[in-house]
Amino acid sequence: MIAAEELAEEQQEHNNQLIQNGKSTFKPQFLSKQQREEQKQKQEEQQHKQQVEKQQQIAQIRKEYIHFRSKVISNSLGDDQKVRQILEKRKSKSRSRSKSKEKNNRYITSNTRATVPVKMDGENQELMHIKMQYLGLNKEKKKILKPSEKFKNIFNFEWDATEDTSIDFNPLYMNRIIASGLHSKAQEDKDPDQLLSSDHWSKKSLGQMQPRDWRIFREDMDIIIKGGRVPNPIREWNEVQLPKNLMNSIRNLNYVKPTPIQMQTIPIGLERKDMIGIAPTGSGKSAAFLIPLITYLSTLPKQDDKICKDGPYALIMAPARELAIQIEAEFQKLSQGYNLRSFVIVGGRKEEEQEFHLKKGIEILIGTPGRIKDLLMKKYLVLEQCSWIVLDEADKMIDLGFEQDVNYILDSITTQMKSEDEIAAELEEKLAQAGERQYRVTHLFSATMPPQVEKLAKRYLRAFCFISIGEPGGGKKDIEQKIDMINEAAKKNRLLQLLASNKPPIIIFANQKKSVEILSKTLEKYGYNSVVYHGSKTQQQREAAVEGFKSKKIDILIATDLASRGLHVEGVQMVINFDAPKNIQDFIHRTGRTGRAGKRGLAVTFLTNSDSDLFYDLKEYLIKSGQNVPPELAQHTASNQKPGSVPDNVPRRKQVILAH
Ligand code: ADP
Ligand code: MG
Repeated sequence: MIAAEELAEEQQEHNNQLIQNGKSTFKPQFLSKQQREEQKQKQEEQQHKQQVEKQQQIAQIRKEYIHFRSKVISNSLGDDQKVRQILEKRKSKSRSRSKSKEKNNRYITSNTRATVPVKMDGENQELMHIKMQYLGLNKEKKKILKPSEKFKNIFNFEWDATEDTSIDFNPLYMNRIIASGLHSKAQEDKDPDQLLSSDHWSKKSLGQMQPRDWRIFREDMDIIIKGGRVPNPIREWNEVQLPKNLMNSIRNLNYVKPTPIQMQTIPIGLERKDMIGIAPTGSGKSAAFLIPLITYLSTLPKQDDKICKDGPYALIMAPARELAIQIEAEFQKLSQGYNLRSFVIVGGRKEEEQEFHLKKGIEILIGTPGRIKDLLMKKYLVLEQCSWIVLDEADKMIDLGFEQDVNYILDSITTQMKSEDEIAAELEEKLAQAGERQYRVTHLFSATMPPQVEKLAKRYLRAFCFISIGEPGGGKKDIEQKIDMINEAAKKNRLLQLLASNKPPIIIFANQKKSVEILSKTLEKYGYNSVVYHGSKTQQQREAAVEGFKSKKIDILIATDLASRGLHVEGVQMVINFDAPKNIQDFIHRTGRTGRAGKRGLAVTFLTNSDSDLFYDLKEYLIKSGQNVPPELAQHTASNQKPGSVPDNVPRRKQVILAH
């Protein structure tokens, strides 16, 4: 046994040597079961150790954060004395209560005993309660369910207004004339919660914006995000708090509205988060990274003889001299009123001259990686207090062979990076925002994401946000549109044919909740697993449906228009419009659920003669997007004129006013 172990060790050593010598003659070694188990155990121990270390690190940061919060809170209350004053005031009130509280303390659960010591004098107890209230150390409360909630799913005798199907089937209600006198069948078809939240984001105040509105807003602006750390974007300049001078500069430049990249990146930058931003040229990237950067610089002391020994506060790298100059011009325009000094390192000038400028003290340095590296190597430049780095057009920098230089520069910067762990990084960002601590912020912009850029991001970015304007790589949505002119009775069989010949995940859209439910039952009969998604389902049920569909446990999602916007599921193979949508916008949004992230998708729309209101716009859209227009649609009279533009000689349908 021992001999076998020695042999294995020797073999291991030999292998290690081969690896060190860079030889490629590495041969797999065969280990006994015991050796494998020992190895596994060692690995597990090591992993455990790493985990413990990580947790300790997070605990330390959390401790600092809590300490910091308590300081902020006591500041906002005034000072410790004020806390005492509040205590004194409350003391008299609580004196009578404290006795009974002490009594109760004996019965508190083991859960809360950890945070609230049982034996405390009245004052400490009060202090603890204040801390609990302000520092979020709230003890867990047991949730008591009301009987009505508890038995809600067991006994439900109540009719929900939305279950009234008379609206769908009774012709009297179908053609109801509503108060304004306008026919509003389309509105009645909508789900009630859609009606409630039917206001477009443009009509809502900031406080009224719900997560779903933000999702739709991002979709309308073509803003794609990844990960859960991305803050809400801004719709207008007044939705973000910027220093006054900066706001004036934006106004003077006549930037009436932020561009989509600015809408999303500015809040990220202001929160001191790292990010990768993917956006095409001309989309306003420079201001997108300069606005948060100037906000940051405006909080720092102006560089003087002493401070400037540690180098500039911020660094922007661009792949070409002209780009660096353009960025500086934009910086100068935006930073007016702050007296921030920028300097562009470009070829052609004498290095000594550049050193002279650097020695005078500058807040921000802009340049190409090659030049910056030269100056660093010759010690003309140091980056000891550079806490904000922007890599502009990172893919171009890689193409031009700057990868090594960029690595060299980023490795020379000595400021502290944030933690890799998202929770820890979040706390550090908050500390940085409050001016308590300094952490390095790194922003990377690129038009594409080649593997080298990803490598760069992995190495130098921390818990970063990923955002992209349009699909990364600038690829257009790749959807093949098929239109099936069909009659109502043939829809079911055609659907089954499509499902049999296409791969999941598939989304099927129908116009009414009732149809969605019927379709689901039908598909179940044929052995398909599907979920439904419409307005009569609770939020929880809807989330569960989407979750099941996203995780590929469920093949088919059957939905009303509620799912046509803001629902982000990747890799949907096909969208089937079992009922054609009412208008072209809904058509675009529904079919846009497929063909995402550079993958090709198929969209099939069942079109009957009763959908003629859509014919004209649909035909135009198909022609514009280079899709096939089936002859039945192309030749249909309804596809040749916009609905509503009825010639005058056609008699108007008699209007029937119904009594209610
Ligand atoms: P990119 O770096 O994405 O190619 P730039 O930052 O160079 O784009 O900006 C392109 C042009 O758009 C510049 O002339 C800039 O002044 C202008 N611009 C930037 N932001 C706005 C805005 N919010 N509104 C109007 N024009 C803008
Ligand atoms: Mg640019």
